[in-house]
Amino acid sequence: MSATTVASPDSPEVRRYNRIRRWLGIGEFVLGLALLVVILVTGWTSWLRDLAYQGARQSYPLAVFLYTVMLVLISKILGLGMDYYSFRLEQRYQLSNQKLRGWAWDQIKEFMVGAVLASMLVELLYFIIRQFPEHWWVLAWFGFLVVAILLAQLAPVLLFPIFYKFEPLQDEELKLRLVRLGERAGTRVRGVYKWHLSEKSKKANAALTGLGNTRRIILADTLLADYSADEIEAVLAHELGHHVHKHILKGIAVQAAVTFVGFWAANWALQYAIHRWHMFETLSDFANLPLLALIFVVLSFVLMPAMNAWSRYNERQADRYAFENIPNVSSFVSSMNKLADQNLAERTPSRWVEWWFHSHPAIARRIAAAEGWAKANAG
Ligand SMILES: [Zn+2]
Repeated sequence: MSATTVASPDSPEVRRYNRIRRWLGIGEFVLGLALLVVILVTGWTSWLRDLAYQGARQSYPLAVFLYTVMLVLISKILGLGMDYYSFRLEQRYQLSNQKLRGWAWDQIKEFMVGAVLASMLVELLYFIIRQFPEHWWVLAWFGFLVVAILLAQLAPVLLFPIFYKFEPLQDEELKLRLVRLGERAGTRVRGVYKWHLSEKSKKANAALTGLGNTRRIILADTLLADYSADEIEAVLAHELGHHVHKHILKGIAVQAAVTFVGFWAANWALQYAIHRWHMFETLSDFANLPLLALIFVVLSFVLMPAMNAWSRYNERQADRYAFENIPNVSSFVSSMNKLADQNLAERTPSRWVEWWFHSHPAIARRIAAAEGWAKANAG
């Protein structure tokens, strides 16, 4: 409780920046939701399906592909205004190193990656629906689980490099510190990579990514450039905490439970739409895709506070791991302060904002936890 009384209040600039970012996030969500609802209610989805069939010369798999790409394209175009606004926002607050041309290229890449991933998933989904109309939702759930595991493994080597450059960390002293941290933990992290974030942003960041042989800690070059070796070690220890506590695997398990409920609800909604509302003739009519997507969007919205609470629990666990494994928590505290300044993060968001939106505990709370831990373990 003392966190909010000890920490100095956030500046109006920081509060304003974070408020705009939150509203942008809400705006994006509402826009996505509205697109799905409008396209279903107006029947435009059937029109798009007919258009896809024409373009595909009546081939079902090709029509599914065209329909999916059109849907991804429409949502990208609709969201472009807000994407541009957030690009300008980062510039306005001197947080960006990106030029308009680089941003535009990123948008094209995002669309292409989105279209490829979405069309693969949707093809798989409607293949399953056509082959196994009785139990499609259980099989689709299992299929998506396999894809989620595969994606978690491939992302660091296949997806992230499309947007950022990575290279193995060269710094010998830091590598030695990591090895020592790992030895104390009885674990071995296969790699630490320098993440060339500075090409786009002035913010600092770090993460644990990958699965199995792609498991790695990535450290932004912005962090490596401006933080002391002790501070970087504190960040490494936190990421190692995620590794030791198996947070990525647990994340996939939670995702599995959520998508199971999602597919069950999707089946229920589709049956209802077909037999009661007569919106679609069959399950395999892919014009029903927006309804399926809608179920998952609503589900993830409803579960957002719970998912964020769970994420904050994991972050506290990783923090505690760091406290226990670095020589002094003061390096953790100073790394947190630097991160807050550099990223314009709110140290003391309102309880309500933290509860709903934050995947990480507020920085003032994390610092208070570090100091509390140090006091409890003094001597
Ligand atoms: Zn973390």
